[in-house]
Amino acid sequence: MALRLFNTLTRKVDAFTPLWDKEGVVTLYTCGPTVYNYLHIGNYRTYVFEDVLKRALKLHGFKVRHVMNITDVGHLTSQADEGDDKMTVAAKREGKTAWDVAKFYTATFLDDIKSLRIDFTAPADAKREVRREAADILSYATGHIPEQTAMVDALAAKGFTYETADGIYFDTAKFPGYYKLVGEAHIAGLQEGARVSMGEKRNPTDFALWKFSPAGEARQMEWDYRGRKGFPGWHIECSAMAKTYLGDTFDIHCGGVDHIPIHHTNEIAQAECSSGKDFVRFWLHGEFLLVKAGKMSKSDGTFITLADLKDKGFDPLDYRMYCYGAHYRKQLDFSWEALESAKTARRRLRERALEDLKAAGPEPGDSGGFQERFRDAVGDDLNMPNAMAVVHESMSRLGTPEKRLSFLRAAEAVLALGLLDAPKAESLPADLQALFERYAAAKKAKDFKSSDALRSELAAKGIKVKDTPQGSTWSRA
Ligand code: AMP
Ligand code: ZN
Repeated sequence: MALRLFNTLTRKVDAFTPLWDKEGVVTLYTCGPTVYNYLHIGNYRTYVFEDVLKRALKLHGFKVRHVMNITDVGHLTSQADEGDDKMTVAAKREGKTAWDVAKFYTATFLDDIKSLRIDFTAPADAKREVRREAADILSYATGHIPEQTAMVDALAAKGFTYETADGIYFDTAKFPGYYKLVGEAHIAGLQEGARVSMGEKRNPTDFALWKFSPAGEARQMEWDYRGRKGFPGWHIECSAMAKTYLGDTFDIHCGGVDHIPIHHTNEIAQAECSSGKDFVRFWLHGEFLLVKAGKMSKSDGTFITLADLKDKGFDPLDYRMYCYGAHYRKQLDFSWEALESAKTARRRLRERALEDLKAAGPEPGDSGGFQERFRDAVGDDLNMPNAMAVVHESMSRLGTPEKRLSFLRAAEAVLALGLLDAPKAESLPADLQALFERYAAAKKAKDFKSSDALRSELAAKGIKVKDTPQGSTWSRA
């Protein structure tokens, strides 16, 4: 069955084929993090959903050209283009430069996504051009200022902009398609929400393309444009960087649902009014992870990080497993109990796989139609709860280790749960390791008096030693 995806733009599930069908390359843009703090596990729910999408595309035979941005400037504390830049606020909080804050949290983000097995390996510097080939491209807002000002220029030349005392704004009244993503039903709500702070804006939904640095204030991050210092608005980076690497029109753009009414709506306005072409063919949005039925958010400090999970003995992949418990378009209420169940379920699958790996013969097994069922579940708008049901059923219905492994190997290309990883070498706590090393050294030096004493000491602590021609080894008694 072909891959089908729910498109926020058409409000229905549509069959997916890429624009560059001949090359089989899908162009994908996923909004990356604002690097002013650690990310919370809610953010990572969105990144896991996007990763499942990317892996599903590959499972269905496509190659992926994927751009993810790092917002390291311009995301203001208020959605209404007011307040400080989040990077500046963090710099003050941490007593660092905004650049150092960005560097630090970008590195923690990249470590986190690695531990979640997010399939993204960006080379150091991608060529700034549209190419019909697979690539992972990590693009920094601060590294693409000329691309952004070029888009502001193009919008100005076509009459879509106006200037106020504090910046250059997009006149949303001039774009008839402005509400295409939110839908007609939500126009009133969107306008009401934006009305809070009109300032000099012509329409409530108008937004800043470029902000001027306040007079007499040197900002850490500012650039010359039109003869004065300033910095880009938050939305322009995504429109400009997507155009740079993927072209005016591309296949899939993702983010969390919070991005629909403002960020993505504004991205469409900028991109379509500057190019005169459709911006994105498929818009996909992930629902929120809630904590105690409330929105989990970085700005109000109620967030749980991956480090918090690790401190409580969870592997980041347990969290990945947990995410598969709900469809990405459904809200998910976080609970430690549910995470614990996901951990147990993952451990059971892994134990089964490890036993099978020991028992299996060399011939690959036939996975008896389970691979096709798994592929169809994933291709059905990324229905991971159904895909997991297929996995569990396969474990009881497939009768041999070879068959189960053959299925699991294929499924892991999407699941990425580490089910087939070699078991980690067991290690000793530091004090016992030191004791064991003293024993091994004494034995090697033929100091039998010491080695006998150390052997007894280790035995009393539950560690049995064995001596081989290659040296000493240990096991738990
Ligand atoms: P930000 O760094 O705030 O731009 O957020 C990064 C990504 O996480 C965006 O795609 C957001 O839509 C998404 N996001 C933010 N909060 C949540 C949440 N509680 N659950 C799921 N996704 C979220
Ligand atoms: Zn974006």
